[in-house]
Amino acid sequence: MPDSLVDLEARRNAVQSQISQLGDMRSGSITGTGGRCGNPNCHCHRAGDTGHGPYYRLTRKVNGKTVTETFSSAASLTKAQREVAECQRFRELGDQLLDVNEQICELRPVEEISPTAQEKKRPKRSKRKSRAK
Ligand SMILES: [Zn+2]
Repeated sequence: MPDSLVDLEARRNAVQSQISQLGDMRSGSITGTGGRCGNPNCHCHRAGDTGHGPYYRLTRKVNGKTVTETFSSAASLTKAQREVAECQRFRELGDQLLDVNEQICELRPVEEISPTAQEKKRPKRSKRKSRAK
């Protein structure tokens, strides 16, 4: 049994209210790097050493170019992780919102489109229609 328009609109409202409650968000992804460095005398090359890091950095695309950001403190990393997670949540909710809207569009009867709204797209039309003759 497919959902009714009323159900779908309720679901859309629920998704929209979740989106409105999102906090600070930023795009990008945070990855950790670490391991062995280039200095063979460094402790990281000793057996059993866990190596350096991990060092975290955020990468994101700006105008098609990858921009990398590093973090000066654990607190700034934690803050960025939270912001990136929020953006991920926003994308998920955005997908849900589009999905439910597409179902609504499919069910929405054509008649519900207001004729006056269509009229506004054609400003060249004369004010009184032929009906008034
Ligand atoms: Zn090293």
